[in-house]
Amino acid sequence: MRAGIGYDIHRLAPGRPLRLGGIVIPSPVGLLGHSDGDVLLHALCDALLGAAALGDIGEHFPDTDPAFRGADSALLLTATLAKVRAAGLRPVQVDATVVAQQPRLTPHKAAMRQRIAELLGLEPACVSVKAKTNEGLDAIGSGLAIAAHAIALLDTLPERESVEMS
Ligand code: MG
Repeated sequence: MRAGIGYDIHRLAPGRPLRLGGIVIPSPVGLLGHSDGDVLLHALCDALLGAAALGDIGEHFPDTDPAFRGADSALLLTATLAKVRAAGLRPVQVDATVVAQQPRLTPHKAAMRQRIAELLGLEPACVSVKAKTNEGLDAIGSGLAIAAHAIALLDTLPERESVEMS
């Protein structure tokens, strides 16, 4: 088993769709970013890459690369999963916390969890998404940004295990 952690933060701005956990959440403000700014999927990418010791999201998907301008972060997570699997590993469980003062995320947690499970090929029971505010403190608490923390647990692909044993 291998564990990895991930963290991300993006600024909020008016006139952007709010994409979080691979879904669109109704909001007057959205996350700024070179891609769609989905902090939760970015934190998950870094958790997966970290567990596989494959570097970080900035190395794999640089924000200087026009190819990733406005990119759907679901594609980045799918590409990250492919890199993890190419290293002979697969996710077995992920957990995440989103820190957002606004909008209220509780009504959307189940949909985010379902979407992440789909993207990672996991049962929803192996995916956790938690949400909290920042109690009105700092930039997140002032509604200027949203952050996410994630952890991923990987194990060895079964086909790789059988290769190693033979
Ligand atoms: Mg990011």
